[in-house]
Amino acid sequence: MGSALASKPSSPLAGTGNGTICTRMNDLSNSPGQTPQRKPDWIRVRAPTSPAFGETRELMRRLNLNTVCEEAACPNIGECWKNKHATVMILGDTCTRACAFCNVKTGMPGKVDPLEPAHVGEAAAELGLEHIVITSVDRDDLPDGGAGQFVKVIAELRRATPATTIEILTPDFRGRMRAAVEAIVAARPDVYNHNLETVPRLYPAIRPGARYYASLRLLEEVKRHDPSIFTKSGVMLGLGEQRLEVHQVMDDMRCADIDFLTMGQYLRPTPKHTDVIEYVTPKAFDAFGAIARAKGFLQVASSPLTRSSYHAGEAFAEMRAAREAKLAKA
Ligand code: SF4
Repeated sequence: MGSALASKPSSPLAGTGNGTICTRMNDLSNSPGQTPQRKPDWIRVRAPTSPAFGETRELMRRLNLNTVCEEAACPNIGECWKNKHATVMILGDTCTRACAFCNVKTGMPGKVDPLEPAHVGEAAAELGLEHIVITSVDRDDLPDGGAGQFVKVIAELRRATPATTIEILTPDFRGRMRAAVEAIVAARPDVYNHNLETVPRLYPAIRPGARYYASLRLLEEVKRHDPSIFTKSGVMLGLGEQRLEVHQVMDDMRCADIDFLTMGQYLRPTPKHTDVIEYVTPKAFDAFGAIARAKGFLQVASSPLTRSSYHAGEAFAEMRAAREAKLAKA
């Protein structure tokens, strides 16, 4: 998979003609078959050292919870955990898919932990979270794809910490999407996130087990069932996508009435994962962000270190205010 991507020609993101959103820097560019050797300065992050980081980790271990922060080797973990913001990954630490970008372990997952919903509620209460993000591995082995566990976790959070707003980031529930979405929407999360991850052309190499239009349809279904739930989706840049392909993804998302778009740099977690084709500059991320806002998203986060759950609480508050302002104008 990596070699298929690596052999692609340079992305047209490199040459926009006006020089203002040129994303390729000569010393960071990729030769065919290679990830750029040096990470640019804007990607470097501090190693986690704060006492709060250790406390967050201790809490997760004590409650037998997994986090995507650790499993995905997220570069923001030092900052987020210092502020006691962790994204809990339910349904185990083993995924039934093998996406080319993802660091989460692949294999046959174990049994679903019946205590997990209560433990998530306990963790949110103990961390004093105003906003929590819950995600999961793909569980293609379960008849409901894991939707029932999302429902239980939402119910437990509402019971344990009623003021906390809830954002869920789900898999695509391949083959049982309608039933899964119906059940989860009925549990009324505040934000329903499902990431498209990349442009449709790159799906066979990057997200081989998924279908671009099925993912879009999932988010459309959420809105159809309950338009008051905010929908959110994200893409990684630097995988070889072209500028106009990213614009098309934005248009597709707006057609599905998605409220919030996140865009961040793909970082290769290990040499076994797909190559970084380019490091997109902060200026280019700003330009993509401006285009997304012009296309009508309520909220946009676009920077090299943006991740779905990065600063999710603040972003949620802004998005809610933006919706209220829009409704007041109408
Ligand atoms: S950005 Fe999200 S996944 Fe990364 S450390 Fe922060 S909360 Fe965890």
